[in-house]
Amino acid sequence: MRVAVTGGGGFLGSHLCEALLRRGDSVVCLDNFSTGDPENIAPLLAHPAFEFQQADVSVSVQVAGRVDAVAHLASPASPPDYLRHPLETLAVGSRGTENALRLALRHNARFILASTSEIYGDPLLHPQEETYWGNVNSIGPRSVYDEAKRYAEAVSAAYRRTHGVDVGIARIFNTYGPRMRPHDGRVVSSFITQALTGEPLTIYGDGGQTRSFCYVDDLVRGLVALLDSSELGPFNLGNPVERTVSELACLVLEMTGSTSEVKHHPLPVDDPVRRRPVITRAREVLGWEPEIDITEGLRRTVAYFAAHADRLAASAAS
Ligand code: NAD
Ligand code: UDP
Repeated sequence: MRVAVTGGGGFLGSHLCEALLRRGDSVVCLDNFSTGDPENIAPLLAHPAFEFQQADVSVSVQVAGRVDAVAHLASPASPPDYLRHPLETLAVGSRGTENALRLALRHNARFILASTSEIYGDPLLHPQEETYWGNVNSIGPRSVYDEAKRYAEAVSAAYRRTHGVDVGIARIFNTYGPRMRPHDGRVVSSFITQALTGEPLTIYGDGGQTRSFCYVDDLVRGLVALLDSSELGPFNLGNPVERTVSELACLVLEMTGSTSEVKHHPLPVDDPVRRRPVITRAREVLGWEPEIDITEGLRRTVAYFAAHADRLAASAAS
């Protein structure tokens, strides 16, 4: 297959590009590096089946030659990133998704959307099944991301109904691993960076809020399984083991042997209280489930951050 990956220079996108190349696909990666990093794909540039296009997909998505599948991942994903780029986030979720869908339509290609557990907002139902419609504050600060992704799901489903585009939707829950930006503000990257540099771990609120953390290799296997199917879903892709933010802080301190203290900061507006996916649909239809537990996933991630101390320093300075 020849696969166009938007956002391929980001954390998840670069792992997806790598996985596709590994199994013999060709990849056209499109990115504007607004939140990605050229370092993520630097090792791929010499691969004969890898092409890179610097492009803002909110403006247009043009790929010369055949395209068999489109994986649309372009979008800021970390809360500080999308709060810093609110209008760009709305644009890439709406116009960017439409441009990527039109590329799939022109080429009669499979299209998968990287949607998010954020479409459930601060869920009133726990754990979350795909049939739950969500609880989103449409005018709150996080809405620029949540509502953009809800629109992206709506327009993708409409392209499937109206134009017969072979659309599939992944609702991704918190995913972590190597190549997260050390200072992207997400909880796993923040805690590991803080622990390794001896800074206090910043727990927002009382730390009792929960998330379910999925290791990147597991998540990418799920995206590839969705790409290879012709299912619409939506599919929750995430690890169903739920942890409090305080538990995560303890695990990171234990794993790094850090003596960093813990400092509490105010909880951000509309920060969801609980988050855990039901993954029965992905398990039964895609034959997918996560295999890497948090201890092993954090061990690999800490090893990556420790080996890239230069990245910690460069990212802190920028
Ligand atoms: P990321 O910020 O590392 O990657 C996003 C990439 O998209 C970056 O390389 C960025 O430069 C690129 N991009 C953004 N706007 C663009 C534009 N207009 N044109 C071209 N490129 C653009 O984030 P990530 O964690 O890798 O997330 C990838 C996708 O997965 C996003 O769509 C995100 O919403 C979704 N997702 C991620 C998670 C997670 O936990 N990592 C959870 C839910 C959903
Ligand atoms: N969080 C925290 N300290 C940080 C960053 C995040 O306590 O330095 C909390 C945040 O308030 C949220 C959880 O960790 O409750 C997950 O945050 P993240 O930004 O990783 O993902 P999201 O909120 O999008 O699930």
